[in-house]
Amino acid sequence: MLIQEMMREEERLVRSMEQYVQAEQRKGNYPSYFNFPLSIQFDLTGKCNLKCLHCFNDSRPDANNEESMTAQRWLALAGQIIAEGGVFSACFSGGEPLLKKQLLLEMLGLFGQDGANLSVITNGYLLDEKTVLDLKKFQRLKLRISLDGHTEDLHDALRQVPGSFQRAVDAARLMASHGVMFEISSCVTPANLGSMEQMVELAHELGAMNIVFDMLVASGRAAKNRHLMFDLTQVRAFFAQLKALRQKYEDVLLAYTGTIMVQSLLSDLPNANLLIRPNGDVRLACLAPFVIGNVMVEEIGEIWRKKGVIAWNHPIAREYLHNADLISGENKGFVNYLDKDIRLDFTSLIKENETFEKPPQEQYAPPSVLFFSGNSAYDSIEMQDIRFLKTKARGTASKTREDGNHLIVKSVDSTYIMNATARMAYGLMDGSRAIEEIIKEISSAFGIEEEKINADIMGFCRKLAEFRLVEA
Ligand code: SF4
Repeated sequence: MLIQEMMREEERLVRSMEQYVQAEQRKGNYPSYFNFPLSIQFDLTGKCNLKCLHCFNDSRPDANNEESMTAQRWLALAGQIIAEGGVFSACFSGGEPLLKKQLLLEMLGLFGQDGANLSVITNGYLLDEKTVLDLKKFQRLKLRISLDGHTEDLHDALRQVPGSFQRAVDAARLMASHGVMFEISSCVTPANLGSMEQMVELAHELGAMNIVFDMLVASGRAAKNRHLMFDLTQVRAFFAQLKALRQKYEDVLLAYTGTIMVQSLLSDLPNANLLIRPNGDVRLACLAPFVIGNVMVEEIGEIWRKKGVIAWNHPIAREYLHNADLISGENKGFVNYLDKDIRLDFTSLIKENETFEKPPQEQYAPPSVLFFSGNSAYDSIEMQDIRFLKTKARGTASKTREDGNHLIVKSVDSTYIMNATARMAYGLMDGSRAIEEIIKEISSAFGIEEEKINADIMGFCRKLAEFRLVEA
């Protein structure tokens, strides 16, 4: 059975990742928790100019959700986040984030200046040339444009607004002509299941960096439009097509409700993400209906440290996820975004005077730099020579954040975690020293002979070059 096989495969991958991270945690190379999220998604509005039948969060033009987060409040929140050390990835969505274009540009400016990777999820309808040129100013920005079929009929039938296909296609062409990076996101339903390959070809022709296929889950309006969801035979066909397309084209990605299962299985690993809704509610994820606080009444840093860090271990969250249907994401009739969010109470989980302070690393441990997460749409990483060894070494991270004993760094495409020795070595790479001098400094800081650490530091430098974290 293809589905079970895929689930088993996914579980196997998750388990091996879990074991890998736990082993690195025991060595002190990976944190047991993060002092602040690495990634935050901002739902700038619940309103949308389209009214898609499959909208997973029930956005529409006349949505009357509470939008108490004014532009001023969003910007103040961005300031708080940056003051906390910032995030490595800031994603803007909604509803349609371009309905709040001025705010979106200001938020992109703040997080971009802070060195984060930026992404915007949009239906493309409002992407005119002026907007594309405004977006072009940001480095490390990728847009995700939704296209649910390779023809106007397929797309507009789902999106419920005539002309939305043409607007999205025009937007994609504009982005490509101005060199703004984008990917295509495509929801697969029984109507377009047979034309996935044409979608890949269209995405390629439009100049997208990649295409992500999504199977509908019973969330928001999609739950009211069951005819758009797959039966078991169609699920099998979907996975079979994905498998074939992945073999034929390298840039086809997969997103589906299995991510819920992944999150539940990964719940022993440190949480790294949050989502903020237009009313200020802080959610753990878009497909998991848990709210852990509200930024209108609590500081984001406090919400994270008191609740976010341990939130996936909350018994209600665990029970919900473990009982969710792996294909539809449903749990005993509860519909994400249509039913009231589940507000988790942490009073019994937070122990008096509990502290997450990390003890300093005093003894030498080989420097380690571990991949945290990446964005496959960026250029592939190529091994470089380590010519910089002869010259002064200079780090190239677009953003760094100290997190207890660890240093989190962002290269052009990915986020990495360094342990204390690596953190010290990387800190010394300010352009004033060659690697040989850095080895000397580390050896004297830890009272250990240079010969004993030479190979470790050189290996570390090779990794830095491979990850494009140092000037070559
Ligand atoms: S799916 Fe996206 S474009 Fe469609 S209504 Fe929802 S937010 Fe808007």
